[in-house]
Amino acid sequence: MSSSAQSLLSFIDNSPTAFHVVDGLATELMAQGFEKLEEKDTWQIKEGGNYFVCRADASIVAFRAPSQWSVNSSFKIIGAHTDSPSLKIKNKPTSTKEGYQMLNIEVYGGALLTSWFDKDLLIGGRVLYQDEEGAVKQILVQLPYRLRIPRLAIHLDRTVNKEGFLVNPQEHLCPILGLDEDIDFEAWITKETGIQGQLLSWDLFLFDAEKASFGGVNNEFIYASRLDNLGSVHAATQALLSSTYHAHDFLVAAFFQHEEVGSTSQNGADSNFMETVLKRIVLAFTEQQEPFFQAVASSLFISTDMTHAVHPNYGSAHDPNHKPMLNKGPVIKSNANMRYATDAFSIAKFKQWCYKAGVSYQDFCNRNDMGCGSTIGPMVAANLGMATIDVGNAMLSMHSIREMAGTHDHQMMIDVFEAFFDS
Ligand SMILES: [Zn+2]
Repeated sequence: MSSSAQSLLSFIDNSPTAFHVVDGLATELMAQGFEKLEEKDTWQIKEGGNYFVCRADASIVAFRAPSQWSVNSSFKIIGAHTDSPSLKIKNKPTSTKEGYQMLNIEVYGGALLTSWFDKDLLIGGRVLYQDEEGAVKQILVQLPYRLRIPRLAIHLDRTVNKEGFLVNPQEHLCPILGLDEDIDFEAWITKETGIQGQLLSWDLFLFDAEKASFGGVNNEFIYASRLDNLGSVHAATQALLSSTYHAHDFLVAAFFQHEEVGSTSQNGADSNFMETVLKRIVLAFTEQQEPFFQAVASSLFISTDMTHAVHPNYGSAHDPNHKPMLNKGPVIKSNANMRYATDAFSIAKFKQWCYKAGVSYQDFCNRNDMGCGSTIGPMVAANLGMATIDVGNAMLSMHSIREMAGTHDHQMMIDVFEAFFDS
């Protein structure tokens, strides 16, 4: 199997939350010579330079500046999301029930709730505290303790296999923390994370303790959490890192938090993050306003998010003529009602990059009697007024705690992204 697929597995294991995703990317980018820009500072951007900027510690835009900037320089952008459906710990984190100490959670995004039962779960995310000088500090954490949301035994729920497993997220989904009814969550977190100061707040999530792995008789599958959408984040990052620079255009990889909850936030794809970064990049080269608008008009945005492969046991869930397969290449996602930003122009461009890379592509379009999902493509296209295509690699078990994708699709997508950046 390709080294890129192997690298994806490690990336997923090291990225249990969006905060870890961005932290890991920042470390990798700096190791590759990228310079960190702060939104609060004045930006100095040099021709041929490599930079990245983060917002709210869970979104990131990285870019390579062209070796020769001109008013004709455009943006070649690949965008994806850093977050995945999860269970998030509430601000009042514990309660007792039937003699058990329970963790109070709420559902983040459209999680396939039944998949979270009978799994070994870990806690990770960020913790904020006040240090000895009174400053607010933040650390990323992953705790080693395994928690569990146990299923009710079939003997106590005889009809479940025929009538379905219904989950009430308030009543059934809180994990058991332990049998110690006196546990003080804040004191426990303070001790376990080793913070020196007063714990103030947290963004803590649960995640699967099981590591990512290959599967299938020929290792043709990847089994992992958060493939949606870390598969896309990793592919775009690999393409950006392997493309040295472009003579005329900016190469950009942009990853946003909060896609799973609608993207409206300080740092979601529906915020001004993308637009302000692009504007400031151009303003670093010229005080004129005009070149930014000129650049946008000739730029392209690839919105990449995983998509639904046809399921062998549920083939009728797909339109009969649009059944993407695993390991058959990138999927072009189209929807007449613009739930995807794809149009004939952006399809034409994407097919050119596939031909150039020698990679086959597939088409996805929903059944007419079924609602269509969406992603960051339409909102970025609308906010920037930029030609956009929605694509993604095919997968099964989307939004399950453990998803499944094709091992070979990953390198194929990277090849197409590289062809885009080199175009
Ligand atoms: Zn997604």
